[in-house]
This record gives sequence, structure tokens and C-alpha cells, in this order.
Amino acid sequence: MNNYANLTVGVLALQGAVSEHCLQIEQLGAKAVIVKNPEDLIACDGLVLPGGESTAIGKLMRKNGLFEAIKAFHAQGKGLFGTCAGMILLAKQLTGDPTVHLGLMDIEVQRNAFGRQIDSFQMELAIKGLIESFPAVFIRAPYIVNFNAEKVESLAEFEGHTVLAKQGNLLACSFHPELTANKAVMGLFLDILRSEGNS
Ligand code: GLN
Repeated sequence: MNNYANLTVGVLALQGAVSEHCLQIEQLGAKAVIVKNPEDLIACDGLVLPGGESTAIGKLMRKNGLFEAIKAFHAQGKGLFGTCAGMILLAKQLTGDPTVHLGLMDIEVQRNAFGRQIDSFQMELAIKGLIESFPAVFIRAPYIVNFNAEKVESLAEFEGHTVLAKQGNLLACSFHPELTANKAVMGLFLDILRSEGNS
């Protein structure tokens, strides 16, 4: 019997990468649910906030009631995993930008942090708790400039900047874990959901 069989994981599907996340969730043996409206969250034990364009996702989230619904979902003890733009949505602070979206994670995030000339790249990333390195794909990626070390644990760094971090049942990464066949980072999120007793 699969370890994740009792988990149902939502993927926010307003804009950006969705189907690849669903595929990884299903390949790990959990159930994936597409989340477009607040009521879609009812079945979910956790939610993935995918990459895309954070301003667009933030606007759509506010428009259809998901902004408050996701905050309430988290307040009920449900885990969230923000990837790339999703990390921006989770941050309490954006560098040089007064915008705050969900504002749930004690991190300061810089958008498009790697500069325009290196729009996207892939590298082998060492991740705390994983034996093998992870092929991380960065696309106009943000990184974590600062975080509250009492609450947030840095799980991976690139060029001295945190690119994967955990705070309780919140997980955020700068890169796109769904754009590779390696499912280890999604596995970290499912482990968090399982250990929180969310299943
Ligand atoms: N640059 C995008 C933003 O600021 C994030 C890019 C991504 O999710 N790949 O929202």
C-alpha cells in the first residue's frame, strides 16, 4: 500500500503550470485535485501554488474568492507549497515592493532575482534531507533574501541565497520541481502533509 494513498492534494489552477504538478502528485500515489474555486478546497489536505506570474495569479485569486479561502484553509492547519510565483504569493514581504499576497510565510522574497540575462537555467541542487541532488529548473525565479530563522528553515541554497524553505506546514521553492522526472521535492511536501496528520 502506498504511503501517500490517503492524501488529496489540490493544485491552484488559475494560471501557470498545473498539469505537471498533478502528474507528480498522482505518480507519488496521492490524489490530485484541480482548484479553481473555494469549494474545490473542501476535499484537499494541502494545496500547491504553482509557478506562473504572481501578479496575475494574485489578481485572479482575489477575484474569485480564493484569496480568503486559501487563508482560511491554512488557518485550519492545511499545508501549502508555493513554487516560484507561489513562493511570492506566500511571502510576508517582497523586496522593494509594497505588494503582499497571502503573507503567510516569514520570508522576504525578491522577484526575478537572478537577473534578466539569465532568464532560466537548470542546476543540480543539494537539498537538506535528500541523499541525491535535485535537478532544479529556475525560470525568472525569485529567491529568499531574508527570513525569520526562529520560524523558517532553509533547506537549500544557491549562490548564498535560500531557494527552498520550510515553515511548519508551509514549503516554498524558487524553482519548478514539476518540470523534471524527479519527484523528490513534491515528496517532501507530501511528507509534511502526512506528518501533520492531515491525511
Ligand atoms: N517572475 C515570476 C513572478 O514574479 C515568477 C516566475 C515563475 O513562476 N516561473 O511572478
